[in-house]
Amino acid sequence: ADTAAAGSRHFVPEDLPTHLQHYIGGRTVDSIGGKTFEVLDPVSNRTYATAAAGQAEDVDAAVAAAREAFLHGPWPRMKPRERARVLNRIADAVEAQESRLAELETFDTGLPITQAKGQALRAAENFRFFADLIVAQFDDAMKVPGSQINYVNRKPIGVAGLITPWNTPFMLESWKLAPALATGNTVVLKPAEFTPLSASLWARIFEDAGLPAGVFNLVNGLGEEAGDALVKHPGVPLISFTGETTTGQTIFRNAAENLKGLSMELGGKSPCIVFADADLDAAIDSALFGVFSLNGERCTAGSRILVERPVYDAFCEAYAARARAIVVGDPHDPRTEVGALVHPVHFDKVASYVELGKTEGRLLAGGGRPDHLPEGNYIAPTVFADVSPDARIFQEEIFGPVVTITPFDTDAEALELANNTRYGLAAYVWTRDLARAHTFSQNVEAGMVWLNSHNVRDLRTPFGGVKSSGLGHEGGYRSIDFYTDQQAVHITL
Ligand code: NAD
Repeated sequence: ADTAAAGSRHFVPEDLPTHLQHYIGGRTVDSIGGKTFEVLDPVSNRTYATAAAGQAEDVDAAVAAAREAFLHGPWPRMKPRERARVLNRIADAVEAQESRLAELETFDTGLPITQAKGQALRAAENFRFFADLIVAQFDDAMKVPGSQINYVNRKPIGVAGLITPWNTPFMLESWKLAPALATGNTVVLKPAEFTPLSASLWARIFEDAGLPAGVFNLVNGLGEEAGDALVKHPGVPLISFTGETTTGQTIFRNAAENLKGLSMELGGKSPCIVFADADLDAAIDSALFGVFSLNGERCTAGSRILVERPVYDAFCEAYAARARAIVVGDPHDPRTEVGALVHPVHFDKVASYVELGKTEGRLLAGGGRPDHLPEGNYIAPTVFADVSPDARIFQEEIFGPVVTITPFDTDAEALELANNTRYGLAAYVWTRDLARAHTFSQNVEAGMVWLNSHNVRDLRTPFGGVKSSGLGHEGGYRSIDFYTDQQAVHITL
């Protein structure tokens, strides 16, 4: 094996639930028709729990509870400071559960435990941030001398439908829940069916923090059933969705009937561009983190590395050596750097891209399942060099620990390669030349650029993609705008 080994014992968290229910109107309930689906863990690929499989009638019940809480409950009418107090208590509770959450998340998703540990803090930070923001929120008033005063009356919209993916599930749920709730909406959350475990923590956290019943509702289930019903429900004016581009397209079509507000954070195939004048050590560190952290199951993964010709060979050699040394193993082992992919279906998809890559590029590291891990959804960090832009592994989102490296000769060629996909989520640029750094960053088709740095973001900045990577931006005041209506009130003097 060219991959270092970590322990292969299988850790199972204590008090693991064996059945996951919906949470509707302040009560945990099963599906009305009793339907369930099975939930696997990615190390053993055995069913560890069943979950209620929400159908249209369950979504109806959740929307009815959320609508009642919106129309007649206290939450939308509370002062921002009062809501902020609840949100801060939620943040405290999330932080207090950091190790439990990390255990559950690692068990359910296969993320390395050391990386799952940061998720609770980021989730808590989302609640604190939006608590601060709504307290500081002010809206415009405009005067037309002698004739009119106009002001903005900002209002929550109603029941927000939140649909989330399985990579870092809890954190991504918080990214939608925090601004939706902060602004006074009520919500129905539909978590990803591969990873419903950590979402089961929310109900208790919200209850303890004093969130009124009916404000938060959760319906588990399959995308094509529960998700679809939420998207089509006439009582849900907003859908915030994070997931695959093709799913986003389906949701866009299905939301048209009721003209819903949509925020879409979709797939990516983000370039990492390394110029010959870059700090190569820093670029290599970052480019490894960019695609091998979170098992490569990261929307902003820098999964296409473009390297300027003079340093190409040296980069490939050093990068591949580091990739081969990455520790793949049991997600719960603190030495593990790449854990198990979320689900056998996803494993098969990633493995098929690895096989395809062997015909489309030069294999430098990895290339399939590590020898020391015969069971579970493990794929060794895989590096393909000399990949041409028409290769499928260059064009398509793999969403696993697989990266392509491609050489370039000029800035113009680098830009053309960087922009040569349907996606436009993130880009990473490495150069010491200030003018080139900014010119390139401003021309690259990406919603977010990291210059000589990697994936750490300030919550005030816009988050979102261009092209097929998304629709609209969230982050900071943009999230407040998405979850509120801004009514203009005109008064003639
Ligand atoms: P997915 O699109 O398969 O599923 C996402 C969610 O949508 C799940 O809850 C699923 O049940 C639901 N869903 C599926 N079909 C539906 C339908 N017809 N109607 C309504 N809901 C439906 O995505 P995934 O595989 O869970 O997640 C991985 C994808 O998410 C990758 O493409 C990744 O890039 C993307 N992602 C993007 C961001 C971002 O911020 N841009 C962040 C994380 C993940």
